[in-house]
Amino acid sequence: MSSLAGGSYPPALDDALERDRLVQTIKDWTIANGLAVRPPPELAGNDSEGVLAMSAPVTLFPSPFPRSCFEEAVAIQPKYNELYARISQDEEFLGALVQEVAGGDEFIANLWDVHRRVKEEGYVQNLSLGLFRSDYMVHQDGEHLQIKQVEFNTIASSFGGLSAQTTLLHKHLARTEYPFLKDPIPQSSLDLPTNESSKRLAAGLYAAFQAYGKSALGHPTCALFLVQDGERNVFDQRHLEYALQSSGPQPVPVFRLPFSQILTHTSLAPSSPNRQLLYHPPHNPALTFEVAVVYLRAGYGPSDYPSASAWEARYQIERSAAITCPSVLTQLAGMKKVQQVLATPESVSVSSSPSPNSILRRFIPDDDNDDGSASALFKTFTNIYPLDGTSVAGREARRLATDTEECKKYVMKPQREGGGNNFYRSAIPQRLREVPESHWGSYILMELITPPPVTNTILRNGKLEHGGVISELGVYGTCLWDQKTGQVLHNEEAGYLLRTKGDKSEEGGVAAGYGCMDSCRLV
Ligand code: ADP
Ligand code: MG
Ligand code: MG
Repeated sequence: MSSLAGGSYPPALDDALERDRLVQTIKDWTIANGLAVRPPPELAGNDSEGVLAMSAPVTLFPSPFPRSCFEEAVAIQPKYNELYARISQDEEFLGALVQEVAGGDEFIANLWDVHRRVKEEGYVQNLSLGLFRSDYMVHQDGEHLQIKQVEFNTIASSFGGLSAQTTLLHKHLARTEYPFLKDPIPQSSLDLPTNESSKRLAAGLYAAFQAYGKSALGHPTCALFLVQDGERNVFDQRHLEYALQSSGPQPVPVFRLPFSQILTHTSLAPSSPNRQLLYHPPHNPALTFEVAVVYLRAGYGPSDYPSASAWEARYQIERSAAITCPSVLTQLAGMKKVQQVLATPESVSVSSSPSPNSILRRFIPDDDNDDGSASALFKTFTNIYPLDGTSVAGREARRLATDTEECKKYVMKPQREGGGNNFYRSAIPQRLREVPESHWGSYILMELITPPPVTNTILRNGKLEHGGVISELGVYGTCLWDQKTGQVLHNEEAGYLLRTKGDKSEEGGVAAGYGCMDSCRLV
């Protein structure tokens, strides 16, 4: 199988009536089922009351995705959860990497500073929660298809709410629309895996909520979602909130709080050594909740920290007794630098064929590796290089990154999240000319993954875009662990995301307007 585009699937739908019917069905189903986003300002018109919603961009058909790759990514997720839980516990390792990038990256330096301050006074909460997402693209090497990791997200891993709905949309269309096209697609020909990402991510949050236990101060406990002002991807978050609220026998109180209002509406319990985090709902001053879990859907990038008081707010969360998702250390474990160090075998030149190296083995001791975990994880890595001036790999990477031909095979990434921060191909040498050489080490250089060609049609803002597409698979994972003892209390794979973009676009962010929601048709 050298191409996934084979045969007539997905159909191009040249007939306007057929196309319009499918589009109308999708427009209505997406709104009826919350596969939706708030409109961007340019489409919101005079929606001063904020009542408008619009369909999230989606593909008309689930994109073909190699079954073996899908199954491998899903199966390995608990191993990834464990790996990143261990990295989060390794302060020495993370500290050393922060040192390498902090010179050119004030944001990472500030995050580390929050951790350092809390460390000094002592953490009062040992439990840590990760809602992770490991992202992959399919790499084609001759006839062989292999998943390669794009990145591992440890903070604000989004689209779990919309992704479950996208799977439901495509399953609905497979039953009610595709069989009645002029060139019918029988339902039995479509293998569409189930995807309960909303429910299963909520199950991770609920595990932490329960592990926190009752309030010693006699308050009701709650979960607090920290969000960005003016968030357009709010329904994605709401799906998790609703699933969490109905996770247990009793409704779980969940509140949304803009990151910018942490210091206004939360406080640490006065005269208690345990630093319980209290939430004071602005709509009812008579109520006080003790926060069991803080779930960050904000705070992952510099724009959420416009002032020193925003950093004080993050410090207040970090030093509190609430279980944070994520802690600062877990957020830092998601640095692209960590991914690079795991992937770059020490002391081998960049052209050698890599094998599991001592850095990965630092986190997967021999007695845990009976099932070949280390090599299974290592197989999903692609070549990633440091850009420091001292190591052999770093010096070779500097040559590749500044060469006008070689650079076309690479993407250069800073330590940032949320899309739109990378430099691709010929933009790399240009960027390096703008950055002082002493700061090059805060970037990593990664080989571009080029998936096999697929075509599909994207419905975005009511318009159709047909052509070659590239898909990125994300697998969610939830993990609750004890930072002190290393004990893992909860570790699950939690559903998947397929994001698809036109093959001319470099970035795949759905919220940023480049990509769209999709689901897998296993082939
Ligand atoms: P972010 O944390 O901002 O999402 P990513 O590492 O995921 O950063 O990069 C953003 C996007 O860039 C990805 O979704 C993907 O579309 C593209 N991309 C990143 N790395 C690669 C790669 N090695 N090969 C091909 N595309 C990539
Ligand atoms: Mg990311
Ligand atoms: Mg990404």
